Amino acid sequence: MEKTLTILKPDCVRKQLIGAVIDQIERAGFRVVAMKKTRLTQETAGEFYAVHRERPFYGELVEFMSSGPCVPMILEKDNAVTDFRAIIGATDPAEAAAGTVRKLYADSKGENIIHGSDSVENAAIEAAFFFSAEEVVRAN
Ligand code: UDP
Ligand code: MG
Repeated sequence: MEKTLTILKPDCVRKQLIGAVIDQIERAGFRVVAMKKTRLTQETAGEFYAVHRERPFYGELVEFMSSGPCVPMILEKDNAVTDFRAIIGATDPAEAAAGTVRKLYADSKGENIIHGSDSVENAAIEAAFFFSAEEVVRAN
């Protein structure tokens, strides 16, 4: 079964939307195989988003992602990576499709509630960033 890595970002936690977003994820057929609440430092947030290091928004992104607790999860489903990107919507909520997580809850392109891996390969790298093998439990 394919896996993807998501993070309920600090704005999601601050807005008390953890439950609402997980409900939407489960109703879309994803199973939670790993989950924790944690807080990234500027260093670990910068490492997670290292691919964006040269982008103009990198500093703001690191500030935001380390501004409060977040909830990373590993999710499992057939075609998980692509199907999850579909339910979260476009990076900019103004461009996100109706009913997507970002359209429903996000304030801006920067503070956009949720992360989703962009490939199966990156999903594996990102899952290992947050979770040890013992923390990854079969879906059911
Ligand atoms: N981001 C931003 N401004 C931009 C593009 C991205 O602040 O112009 C932030 C936003 O939080 C986004 C993250 O950087 O979710 C990673 O960007 P990416 O292009 O990978 O978007 P995603 O894969 O999250 O849709
Ligand atoms: Mg991305």
